[in-house]
Amino acid sequence: MRHPLVMGNWKLNGNKAMVSDLIKGLDNALAGVEGVDVAIAPPVMYLDLAQQLLGKAQNKIVLGAQNVDVNASGAFTGDISPEMLKDFGATHIIIGHSERREYHKESDEFVAQKFAFLKEQGLTPVLCIGESEAQNEAGETVEVCARQLDAVIKTQGVEALLGAVIAYEPIWAIGTGKAATAEQAQEIHAAIRAHIASFSQNVAEQVVIQYGGSVKAGNAAELFAMPDIDGALVGGAALDAEGFAAIAKAA
Ligand code: PGA
Repeated sequence: MRHPLVMGNWKLNGNKAMVSDLIKGLDNALAGVEGVDVAIAPPVMYLDLAQQLLGKAQNKIVLGAQNVDVNASGAFTGDISPEMLKDFGATHIIIGHSERREYHKESDEFVAQKFAFLKEQGLTPVLCIGESEAQNEAGETVEVCARQLDAVIKTQGVEALLGAVIAYEPIWAIGTGKAATAEQAQEIHAAIRAHIASFSQNVAEQVVIQYGGSVKAGNAAELFAMPDIDGALVGGAALDAEGFAAIAKAA
């Protein structure tokens, strides 16, 4: 019933040549891959180029972005609005990534504001949640994830999650090469879904919950075999066309 989504988060990487090579490489490597939604989030500077290249691509690759700000227009130096992202064909917008929460001090409430703003504009929020290593060791994982979700649920209602994507990304697994095991991830995904089900069973059954954190071709299949893991948000491995396509094939 739920369609898995494999999304590449390119982070702060690339230049025109690399964006061009990677998109062409992905188009070739994804030939014949079906039953999975595939998205890429290049740095926002390259959305224009990416949109042009994706327009010529044979395979349907959805365009996304890594962040958005919370104002529509005006005196907000450096900000990017949802309308601007939409203007370049980006539909799936990552918000609340742990790197933004940490380095830019983004709070749960601020992330929830972004969520609301994207929904208003008809865009798909990809809401990242997840615990730090210390919180994990203290047994606080589910509590932390629930709190991050509740910032959206308690202000916008659980139905707001319909059509959105949640990415569970344990911070200790991001960029470390130390992914959660499929069993560990499944346990937390099931707990996240159960938390959502405490508000609405229907929303819980429908919402796509990706896993993120050191996903690669070698561990994707076992993660995706789990009943509550609906694809992945992929960082490092998304910068290699063959490797990323192998992850998409596994979904
Ligand atoms: P990683 O990053 O795949 O490099 O661990 C995932 C993410 O930060 O979204």
